[in-house]
Amino acid sequence: MTLPATVIRFALRKVQPTTQPARTDIVAAMSAFSLPIFKYHPDPVATGSIKPSDAQCRACGQVRGFIYTGPVYSTEELHHAICPWCIADGTAAEKFDAEFTDIGWGVPADVPKAVRLEVSQRTPGFSSWQQDHWLYHCADAAAFLGPVDGSAAGAHPDAWEMLFHENDQSGWSYEQTRSYLYSLSRDHSPTAYLFRCVRCGRHLAFSDSD
Ligand SMILES: [Zn+2]
Ligand SMILES: [Zn+2]
Repeated sequence: MTLPATVIRFALRKVQPTTQPARTDIVAAMSAFSLPIFKYHPDPVATGSIKPSDAQCRACGQVRGFIYTGPVYSTEELHHAICPWCIADGTAAEKFDAEFTDIGWGVPADVPKAVRLEVSQRTPGFSSWQQDHWLYHCADAAAFLGPVDGSAAGAHPDAWEMLFHENDQSGWSYEQTRSYLYSLSRDHSPTAYLFRCVRCGRHLAFSDSD
């Protein structure tokens, strides 16, 4: 059965909301659906590296509704000045000779150069207390899941194990290590940074303090 045009028009009118949401809310909601996909940083809004913002991107000149808030390694000051799209397509890295993670050390030799470049130049980084760095597994970069506290890290025994042995070389006792791990906090020092291998799914973590 085909509905007469007048009925369809009435139905359409009925679903119109009586109060319109603010335009910025609509822009932010629409952009969120189409945020670029970052293989090695799958939810940068949840981790806090990308935030809703009316700031203009210095790379594309547009106000996209979201801005990158993590570290930028470049000669220009680019704090809260790059949109996620200009990170994803390499525009910001190329334009400002910028990197978003300092991967200068600790990269296993079996990780291809293309992966290192994707992490440093086309993936949002994250802020840590002293020295952000990435983690790797299965000859690939791992996906950054976010800063976590002790109980969130403890939910992943493989990551917990890494954290537990982080200070072995410094001669920490079992009790020292235990109280350190239980003091981990998402918002205060020390903090754990959780990753997941994109190939085997193993969880990895390191911690950092101020
Ligand atoms: Zn941009
Ligand atoms: Zn793996």
